Amino acid sequence: MKIFYSIISLILLLTLFITTTVIAQIYPEDPETFFSPQSVADKVYINANVITVDKMHKCTKASAFAVKDGWFIYVGDEAGVQSHIGPGTLVFDLEGKTVIPGLHDSHMHYRLGARELYPQTPDIREELGKWASVERMQAVIKDCLATGKGIRVGKDGQQWLVLSGWMSDVWDPPVFHRKLIDEVCPDIPVYITRYTHGSGCNTKALELAGITKDTPDPEGGHIKKDERGEVTGEFVERAPQQLLDLIPPAPPYTFYEDARNFVEGQHLALKVGLTMIHEASQTSYNDAKKRLALYEGGIMLLRMNDMISPEAAKQLGAPINYNNRYINQTVKQLADGAMGSRGAWLLEEYSDYPGYFGEPRVTAEQIAELGTELIGIGYNLAIHAIGDAANRAVINGYEKALKNTGADPFKVRFRIEHCQTLTPQDIPRLAPLGLIASMQPLHAIEDMHFSPARLGSERIKGAYIWRTLLDLGVVVSSGTDYSVSPYNPFYTIHAAVTRQDRNNNPSGGWYKEQAMSREEALWSATWGGAYAAKMEDIYGSIEKGKLADFVVIPVDILDKNAIADEDLWKIEVDMTVIGGEIAYKKPVVVK
Ligand SMILES: [Zn+2]
Repeated sequence: MKIFYSIISLILLLTLFITTTVIAQIYPEDPETFFSPQSVADKVYINANVITVDKMHKCTKASAFAVKDGWFIYVGDEAGVQSHIGPGTLVFDLEGKTVIPGLHDSHMHYRLGARELYPQTPDIREELGKWASVERMQAVIKDCLATGKGIRVGKDGQQWLVLSGWMSDVWDPPVFHRKLIDEVCPDIPVYITRYTHGSGCNTKALELAGITKDTPDPEGGHIKKDERGEVTGEFVERAPQQLLDLIPPAPPYTFYEDARNFVEGQHLALKVGLTMIHEASQTSYNDAKKRLALYEGGIMLLRMNDMISPEAAKQLGAPINYNNRYINQTVKQLADGAMGSRGAWLLEEYSDYPGYFGEPRVTAEQIAELGTELIGIGYNLAIHAIGDAANRAVINGYEKALKNTGADPFKVRFRIEHCQTLTPQDIPRLAPLGLIASMQPLHAIEDMHFSPARLGSERIKGAYIWRTLLDLGVVVSSGTDYSVSPYNPFYTIHAAVTRQDRNNNPSGGWYKEQAMSREEALWSATWGGAYAAKMEDIYGSIEKGKLADFVVIPVDILDKNAIADEDLWKIEVDMTVIGGEIAYKKPVVVK
């Protein structure tokens, strides 16, 4: 019966969204006629403050534009747009509002619906971007014990409380210890993931798993010990398998739940102006097939550049581009872990954890081999690299793969995800190799609380350096790594420009010399994303001949008199348009 209702719900969802279905956006067969001054538009927009983002790091302005079959056929002024208005053309007066190209998140984990609307694993953070205090962590644990939230029951009947989102580096002292959980939950095992790059547990969990001070480190992970050599309950990167084996998995999503999470989740993204996301979760072959089914059902509004696993790429055999809506052409890999958990792979030991260099996950040789193979079937690579050793391995591997194949680096466009710490020797190597720096401005203002201690005063100068990379001609495409950071692209633009958090800390900005201009921040979130998706010829700016994705906002984002730097993150979207169709419109409040 439950399955019956699930199927009915899915059909309802499909019919609901089929009305806003994907319209034909294959590039016009006869572009000369299609984009000519006589071509009649479906929709014309006038009286707009259009920021076109049509030049490298720069933006010019227009006041009117015309859209046909999902493409911009004219961008200019009111006089010029007249010839595109026919008897059936809808003309909209934007009343002076600002129009920017559709926004990209060049690196996110698309779990908006699953995490924001239907969470299976409670997060101890009150909100993303705001780390939880010890008191907050303990309060959430107490609440879960009282309500049953986050409790999973294993086959043996053993209850486990599984949570996410802890980060102890902001505590005073910045040390996680199992006793902090024992104080509020001594009897039920508790396991908290530290946003995928590490985890922590209480004493009960250690006892059940039989982990003691004599337990060896797992492959790719590290068991932390206190000054007396006792296990603290914190695991850097991978936790011991004997512990993971005991934790009951969350129930798998049904197809209906997957579709629901996707559809309802995408409206959260559209509401903040996102029109394309680059999904960085190493999508499997089966999950890529599921996404194709959503596309075919007409319920995929957001454009998605899906980064898949190496196995999925080999199974698929060639990149996929469904109508510029669902694209998979990139394989995701990881070269190391995260900075916060000390999983980042460094050339020299951690400044605050002597003798420890982080967790390498791949060698330059392996990258070169995989890169060579993937170039052969038309795919490229996007590799997570945080530490300077990881970034060097990735650059060396990419360099070798390009040399092996003789491929044009600017056509291959290998990507470095995060590209967080570079040595002075490696910084100039990115631009000539055509490497894309897929960076997350929000990470700088969230990591500033612990990165200086991890890296020390010299190495930190090579970290979060988007200004330096832009100046060297590297394409920096910005993203959030949601759910590590919040998915709102205006938060990203604010962080890129101010190098401050949303409470204006630190005053003057953190290494402010690495800030972007507003033009660059907008460029990085639009054209930069389209370039990273190999789509800049048809996407990423408001220009004739490009896909008609745009966002209407109430203020001129480039005008310091209209909005101060510190308020950039507060911008709310009036309308998000994808392929000429309204995908989100701010509700009108009737007073
Ligand atoms: Zn990520």
